[in-house]
Amino acid sequence: MHIGIDLDNTILDATAAHLHFYNLASGRAFTPADVNDFYLYRMYGWNKAEREAVVARYGHDIHWNSIPYPLAAENIRELYGKHRISVITARPLQYKDVSVNWLERYEVPYHEIYFVEDKLGTCTEAEVDVLIDDGPHYAEAFARARRPVILIDQPYNGGIEREHIYRARDWQEVRQHLTDLERRLQTAD
Ligand SMILES: [Mg+2]
Repeated sequence: MHIGIDLDNTILDATAAHLHFYNLASGRAFTPADVNDFYLYRMYGWNKAEREAVVARYGHDIHWNSIPYPLAAENIRELYGKHRISVITARPLQYKDVSVNWLERYEVPYHEIYFVEDKLGTCTEAEVDVLIDDGPHYAEAFARARRPVILIDQPYNGGIEREHIYRARDWQEVRQHLTDLERRLQTAD
């Protein structure tokens, strides 16, 4: 299988890292329990320009200091031996170096890495069999295109339920879905 894997809030805990630095920048004290929006900066009442200023100052530190989710790196190392792995992130290209270095730091192996906003287009072109992601808009787009997506449970994607979307609370459940999908793909051949 060709497996596409998002970075933020899929491989690593982007919420905790963003909250830490956004709180630092704003003097606020939001915690993960407050998060209800995929776009965290909106909780702080910032417009896009204000958010850009914070990100320009802290963007590198946010990404470098993010912590992997439990068993994410271990599972991807195992999958890498058997499958094609593409990391597919919508991070701006300016964060390529810190992203690549972070993946090396935590020994997360992959064959390709893409910095793209159009994940459906990229996955279609690259013949990705399944995307693992937390973004509700990506899940909807993949489901509409009848492509499977494993959706990492997050507070901002709770309402999304439809065919082709497989929910996972953690990387153990991700693995279970991948095993099921692989079996189905083999049967379909
Ligand atoms: Mg994400």
